[in-house]
Amino acid sequence: MNAPPKHKLWRARPWMWAVLAALAVGCQAATKTVVAPPGRHSVRSGDLLVLSDFRLSPEHPLIRDLEALREHVSRSLELPPPREQVVVYLFETEAAYAHYLDTVYPGLPRRRAYFVGTPRELAVYTCWGERIQEDLRHEYTHGILHASLGRMPLWLDEGLAEYFEIGGPAPGRINGEYVVELPEALAGGWRPDLARLERLERFEQMQRIDYQEAWAWVHFMLHSTPENRQTLVSYLHDLRDQPQPAPLSKRLAEAQPSLDERFTAYLGSLTTLRSAEAASVP
Ligand SMILES: [Zn+2]
Repeated sequence: MNAPPKHKLWRARPWMWAVLAALAVGCQAATKTVVAPPGRHSVRSGDLLVLSDFRLSPEHPLIRDLEALREHVSRSLELPPPREQVVVYLFETEAAYAHYLDTVYPGLPRRRAYFVGTPRELAVYTCWGERIQEDLRHEYTHGILHASLGRMPLWLDEGLAEYFEIGGPAPGRINGEYVVELPEALAGGWRPDLARLERLERFEQMQRIDYQEAWAWVHFMLHSTPENRQTLVSYLHDLRDQPQPAPLSKRLAEAQPSLDERFTAYLGSLTTLRSAEAASVP
């Protein structure tokens, strides 16, 4: 499979379940081909169920990393307990993964990983490969969020997944690509606009700069001030309990005077923040 140069633009969105289901029905009617996702072996850890056709130890570093990720996400965002499990279908080869998706979801663009939330289950589809850890961290973050909160605005769903996909000794550290590209965009005249991000409803509307801005808003909220962090945490709680919670852009603007100027200055300081971060990480 030819991976797109920026894989993050190419992940399925939870709302796609309806499209995917329709495609699947059409496929079954047209081809009568039966394929099954991996399922000979399973590893369960809490709300995480990993199904594969090859043996994977519960002690495997990948499983341990996902467990640590779940703890990190839940603690950082003060998430309520999950209401659903997340099933990871882990194909052994890219060919098997591609064959499954081509058969069950014909016409679906080739991506390294998909998160698909349906009324039936929260599922991650991916295959073993060089970037399996990053891909699984990103998609499982979507799963954790949806299992605990049920629904997420598109931009925040992606911003949080971008933030938490970065693992290693200091999870959630500054994205090395974005720290270069966001200041360049600013210098080129681009300006952040959270209210605009909030209006994006379809994943094909989100461009690379939107993923970067979404990541940056998450980083800003989690690392700038305790008040901004609490604004995010409160919003996530309201998402679970209220049908139409007040948007984050409004809440942040009320809690943070001169929000746009503060955020733009934060973007400008990312390089400095990253240098300090690099010096503190062994
Ligand atoms: Zn994503």
